[in-house]
Amino acid sequence: MGSNRWWPGLFFCLVLVVSMQAQQTSPADEATRRLALDIFKQLIEINTTDSVGNVTTAAEAMAQRFRDAGFPDSDIQVMGPNDRKKNVVVRLHGSGKHKPVLLIGHLDVVEARREDWTTDPFQFIEKDGYYYGRGSSDMKDGDAIMSATLIRMKKEGYVPSRDIILALTADEEGGTSNGVDWLIKNHRELIDAEFVLNHDGGGVLADHGKALMMEVDATEKLYGDFVLTATNPGGHSSLPRPENAIYELAGALTRIAHYQFPFELNNITRAYFERQVKMSTGQHAADLAAMLKSPPDMEAVARLSKDPLDNSIMHTTCVATRLSGGHANNALPQTAQANVNCRIEPGHTLEEIRLTLEKVVADPTIANPTIKVQFRENNNVLMEHGSDRHSYVPPAPRKEVFEPLDKVVAKMWPGIPVLPTMSTGASDGVYTNAAGMPTYCVSGEQYERDDIRAHGKDERMEVGSFARGVDFYYVFLKGVTAE
Ligand SMILES: [Zn+2]
Repeated sequence: MGSNRWWPGLFFCLVLVVSMQAQQTSPADEATRRLALDIFKQLIEINTTDSVGNVTTAAEAMAQRFRDAGFPDSDIQVMGPNDRKKNVVVRLHGSGKHKPVLLIGHLDVVEARREDWTTDPFQFIEKDGYYYGRGSSDMKDGDAIMSATLIRMKKEGYVPSRDIILALTADEEGGTSNGVDWLIKNHRELIDAEFVLNHDGGGVLADHGKALMMEVDATEKLYGDFVLTATNPGGHSSLPRPENAIYELAGALTRIAHYQFPFELNNITRAYFERQVKMSTGQHAADLAAMLKSPPDMEAVARLSKDPLDNSIMHTTCVATRLSGGHANNALPQTAQANVNCRIEPGHTLEEIRLTLEKVVADPTIANPTIKVQFRENNNVLMEHGSDRHSYVPPAPRKEVFEPLDKVVAKMWPGIPVLPTMSTGASDGVYTNAAGMPTYCVSGEQYERDDIRAHGKDERMEVGSFARGVDFYYVFLKGVTAE
């Protein structure tokens, strides 16, 4: 008997250790998880598409949630350029030690047709371990997580070291009333911040359920379409001449195919590759290290550029994506046209890239070249010149964001690296970055590299991933606003 007396004591100790660890490593709070899920469902079931939806309804619903949680009316604003596209802005006051942090999320979603989907896209459905619905991964999940986190902090009486502002907005996916842009232009004082956290990107990249890395989008490339047109008087196809619109265009496209834009790194892509060196081995690791030297080893750069992903990070890229030309099988072509799609490194304007393309396609062996390079606006209108729009060169990764992030990732996903990345897509960060507020896409949700359904049919979010995303965000945001 006596010899067994230590058992209960040890058991008690173990329980204590386990529960203390659980408190430290798992910030799970059942009430917050339930609240987040409830908001998630509510948002999915409010149609916020541009065609028939109403963003204002969603903004008003969130405003009501904040009022119910005790936020005073003076700290909640619902506003926008028209009745269907209002945004909601709420503020949790801090001690004022630092300038505010702004959290952003878009409330609108991409169109979804019932007949394309297995379930009704505007019904929140839990099935086989997933939540289904339009916006379940882009990004009513994030809207719900950020809202529930702020409500939890308010209820706990938490006083952050800086004001936390949350803006849930319209028309990120489409439409003409982009909420972030509108707020910056019309009510900058409401959302002015030292830096911005966007839930519309980043997250834990996983392969078959295994977490690989925590990605943080900290800058983005600029999207640009350019149109190449070759023209010719044409004529009868039985009398070919060397001048031919299709041949001239084909030659121009071949020159683009062989052209490599200059190698460049910015603060974020450099930090990304520096962390990649530690994760790589052999020749790849050696090449990365050689590339990071100054001056860079251009042979290493050339080897690394053979990988499409590494290449896209180190260079502006332009590629032919569409082609048309000619008007009859038995006639010489009068016009030939191609669309060239570019993803432009931060700091370079659309016009700068158009001018480069003009130089690249110029063929000195053609006596009377006709090729023209125009910029295609978003509304498909062709312009003789590109604008001076450009993506902003990012500042160095902020420690106020990355230090707390490193800590929470080490606890929740031990061993995976935190990687600052440059997104090749685009988010509302273009507006906040352009307004001088460095923007980071941070999310604690895990996503499968082969199961990305944002904008697609049967969009979904894994049940466990959402719950961890809720837990993560509270700890992360506290870390960002603690000191
Ligand atoms: Zn989105």
